[in-house]
Amino acid sequence: MPNNNKELTLSAPLSGPVLTLTNVPDAVFASGAMGDGIAIDPLNDTLYAPCDGEVIHVARTGHAVTLRADNGAELLLHLGLDTVELQGDGFFMLVKEGTRVSNGQALLRYDLDKVAQRCKSLVSLLVITNGEHFQARPITLKGVKVGEPLLHVVPRAPGAGQLDDLEVGIEVSGQIRIAHRGGLHARPAALVRQTARGFKSRSQLHFGGRSASCDSVMGMMGLAITEQAEVHVSCRGSDAEAALQALLASLSTALAEEAHSRAPQVLTTRHAAEEGVLHGVCAAPGLASGPLVRLDGIQLPKDPGGHNVEEQRQRLLDALAQVSQDIQLTLENAKARRHVDEQAIFSAHLALLEDPALLDAAYLSIEQGSAAAHAWSRSIDVQCQVLRQLQSMLLAERANDLHDLRQRVLRALLGEAWQFEVPAGAIVVAQELTPSDLLQLCAQGVAGVCMAEGGATSHVAILARGKGLPCLVALGDALLEQLPGQSVVLDADGGRLELTPSAERLAQVRQAQSQRAALRAQQQTLAHAPARTLDGVDVEVAANVASSAEAGQAFANGADGVGLLRTEFLFVDRHTAPNEQEQRQAYQAVLDAMGDRPVIIRTIDVGGDKQLDYLPLPAEANPVLGLRGIRLGQVRPELLDQQLRALLQIRPLHRCRILLPMVTEVAELLHIRQRIDVLGAQMGLEQRPQVGVMIEVPAAALLAEQLAEHADFLSIGTNDLSQYTLAMDRDHAGLAARVDALHPALLRLIAQTCAGAARHGRWAGVCGALASDPLATPVLIGLGVRELSVSPPQVGEIKDRVRRLDTAQCRRVSTDLLNLPSAAAVRQACHQHWPLG
Ligand code: PEP
Ligand code: MG
Repeated sequence: MPNNNKELTLSAPLSGPVLTLTNVPDAVFASGAMGDGIAIDPLNDTLYAPCDGEVIHVARTGHAVTLRADNGAELLLHLGLDTVELQGDGFFMLVKEGTRVSNGQALLRYDLDKVAQRCKSLVSLLVITNGEHFQARPITLKGVKVGEPLLHVVPRAPGAGQLDDLEVGIEVSGQIRIAHRGGLHARPAALVRQTARGFKSRSQLHFGGRSASCDSVMGMMGLAITEQAEVHVSCRGSDAEAALQALLASLSTALAEEAHSRAPQVLTTRHAAEEGVLHGVCAAPGLASGPLVRLDGIQLPKDPGGHNVEEQRQRLLDALAQVSQDIQLTLENAKARRHVDEQAIFSAHLALLEDPALLDAAYLSIEQGSAAAHAWSRSIDVQCQVLRQLQSMLLAERANDLHDLRQRVLRALLGEAWQFEVPAGAIVVAQELTPSDLLQLCAQGVAGVCMAEGGATSHVAILARGKGLPCLVALGDALLEQLPGQSVVLDADGGRLELTPSAERLAQVRQAQSQRAALRAQQQTLAHAPARTLDGVDVEVAANVASSAEAGQAFANGADGVGLLRTEFLFVDRHTAPNEQEQRQAYQAVLDAMGDRPVIIRTIDVGGDKQLDYLPLPAEANPVLGLRGIRLGQVRPELLDQQLRALLQIRPLHRCRILLPMVTEVAELLHIRQRIDVLGAQMGLEQRPQVGVMIEVPAAALLAEQLAEHADFLSIGTNDLSQYTLAMDRDHAGLAARVDALHPALLRLIAQTCAGAARHGRWAGVCGALASDPLATPVLIGLGVRELSVSPPQVGEIKDRVRRLDTAQCRRVSTDLLNLPSAAAVRQACHQHWPLG
């Protein structure tokens, strides 16, 4: 009665202690990449059939045999580890392919002493190779004698008609050369799996004497198939021929994005290569030294074991579902943006998340009493080890994808309970940090932060500047290979991470740090006084803040006001939208924290790279060019009205100034002014607050004069203005060194904005990151900027800089800078004319 798909109990094929696969000293078996099963460290010299069945494969070298049991389960019996290398010496196969055997029948005898002396280990395996249909449930983990019950083989719930289909189907096979660059790594393997899933047939890949189900990305990667290698594909089922053709096509067609490089390349850096130094882009200035700490993993406490199996299974299932949903969203977003690269990566992540090799290993651990988090973590670690041992750079790199999934699922499992702890004074390195990671790190007193990816105008960078935490981004993957614990120097201003500083250099850095601290203390003593240039021009130095707490810090640091309150950050942690009352309270708290000084509050600026959980926006092909800033208010006028009403309730109203983001034409400004008048009248107000316009797209800069006619002030957002003028994503790691607002094209737009404002007697300020760059202060003043909104810790420093300048000289030199050919040339000229202290 073949393939009856019933549960089956296997008897021990050998006598000896029983081990779970995870304890087998062989990464491939331990990972479950070959399938689910169990191991025995044998004490006898004969391998017996664990059930009735048919011999379907006998290894040429006589060390392994595969049976198909009557329920359809295919069982590989593998004697010892790496015994293939003995080339049959010491093995005596007692059956042939096609032989029908009964439970307890001797299959193979071997010379126990000879094999034991010459192989890596005698530990022998019983593995279900068609694990997509069956699951192994160990009966005992103690020692067994031949014939004693060892393992239950339980059918997985099959897809309707699946086994019937396999019965009626034929088996076909073909051969093809792998076209994928670097071989069959995760993304092409995920595509192969996706192709296979489109058919009812069961498909397998065969390479180097080993086989893997096309259902398992890990299994296929475990075959270590190299580029241009020839592989066999076999398909069995009613649509086997069609499946085979589709699989052959998918294996022999390189991915579209393989035509060009995937890794973000730093197209230009300002540095030559230097031994022992990694170069990146400064996201927040400063100099620090300390031990390197890599923030990459959630450290799990020791697992006491003995957990409730069903409960832990359910926890893992829930976490996987949550992560899968998150990845699905990212994937949809990438699809909507037609971002082929991202799509391929996240499809592979999704496939890995469902991979039988990963899941089976995790569920097996859970069945043995592990907690869900430990089971998942162990299963990923083993697979990472497998990939790293395959001696393929590309596959080893894919271990990072697994690592990502480890983190995501663990975060979902541990929820709020997860907190990392980093020693104070550490230099933290990470692939990329989230804003909440950064806030946690600051609270723990780290000395600096380095990221392999990220951009200098990303929101994490903005937060780091706000906290005065030295931060470098776009350091590249080499950053993640550095040994934790080593003392490093982070010279953020110079864009350098020094990996092997001498004791002398460390001492020098410490001295420079204390000099900086002394200078800062001195600047701080004058921070509360106005910033007046040598020739008597007042420049307002305000601060960018995202909360009332930051406003308090800005006030303490001497800020003349708030130059930009990013209201979209006020409720960033929430899942529900704030109501009018909550908004009013939050804005009022910022005003209250600023004494009698003015506060510029920007209306909500979501879209692009800023997303809010409580305000989901439709996916867009080009979100940065889509529904951003004030445009959201045009399609959701009730949201804008609610925010304006909350703003109009602030007291005293004359200290509140409203700023409109992403304006491109005068009509947008006029419309909102009119709404403010209408709402103000409804509320019985006699005065209305000043209304300003952000100049952050080239169109607005070019229309500055027309906008200034109707606006009370203009505030230049150099972050977006750089992005849109240079056509470079502000968060692009590879372009980070080039998204430089000192580019002469931007300086021309800034000059035009200031001139436009002046024509109507309005003032122009800068609230983008350029305002916090002391090298840029003289240029901005020279071009006519009279307000700088900087990160709170830098107020004293920028005021100090202003006091050393002469506006007439700044004007003369800045006019010449407009004619320079590049940002680099402008920077160099600034260093010459106005050296930094
Ligand atoms: C800017 O674009 O320069 C700006 C200040 O706005 P944000 O960084 O919030 O986009
Ligand atoms: Mg902006």
